[in-house]
Amino acid sequence: MSQRLDNKVALVTGASRGIGRAIARGYADAGATVLSVARSARELAQTVADIKSSGGRAAAYVCDVTDPDRVNRVFSQVAAEYGGIDIAIVNAGVGDEPVELEASDPARWTQVVTTNLFGAYYCARAAIPLLKMRGGGRIVMVGSGLGHHGHATHSAYSVSKAGLWMLVRVLADEVAQDHISVNELIPGPVHTHMTRPATDPSSVFSIESEWLKQPEDVVPLALFLATHPDPGPTGQSFSLMRRTL
Ligand code: NAP
Repeated sequence: MSQRLDNKVALVTGASRGIGRAIARGYADAGATVLSVARSARELAQTVADIKSSGGRAAAYVCDVTDPDRVNRVFSQVAAEYGGIDIAIVNAGVGDEPVELEASDPARWTQVVTTNLFGAYYCARAAIPLLKMRGGGRIVMVGSGLGHHGHATHSAYSVSKAGLWMLVRVLADEVAQDHISVNELIPGPVHTHMTRPATDPSSVFSIESEWLKQPEDVVPLALFLATHPDPGPTGQSFSLMRRTL
């Protein structure tokens, strides 16, 4: 199976650093034009500059995924400029500080769910017509093992990712006839801005048997999910963890 993405247009949310930036670079190396989305203009510009300096094609779109109007404007701009997309990586997300639900801050709790679940919903919703414009494609949602088994003191994050997993399953059924696959990618523990430093003693970073990754380690699975032939897997969860879900 070829893992080339020549002539493909891939939109990656949360591409300003971490896992999203690594996937953006990996897809550009595989030949895709990569449209990088996040809030931080300077970090996004760095992602684009890195890709271009390696001979790749990329563009930046500053966007807060919690703002549905802004998401719709960005996706409309992409539709006009590129005639649609082939791949949407719904990756933008935030972590939560360990705190029991009773002591949690409602504003912070809501912000985590709004970013990780509502932001993903806004982006996936806006991506569907752009994928249809090019005859179908792939949606990859970056989830978490915590969305499958939960974790005490991480209710907001666990709930947001549990919702994301259900979004994957429902959306996969809705768009299967349109040649769009929707799958979840679970990275397992990766050293990024979100997880560094991992001060929680019960953190997965303290589990000896886990595979503690760098963002680049996630790219091969992201490539598989973008390049599998049609029809391929859809509505599935693919994990790089070493624990059972
Ligand atoms: P990261 O380095 O903090 O990157 C998060 C990315 O999301 C950044 O590019 C950030 O860009 C973007 N983002 C956050 N809020 C946003 C918003 N409102 N609008 C637009 N972009 C937003 O974290 P990461 O570890 O790479 O996380 C990427 C994804 O992997 C997340 O969904 C996370 O839940 C998931 N994940 C990570 C791990 C891990 O161990 N690292 C494990 C499982 C799942 P701006 O700040 O510039 O907006």
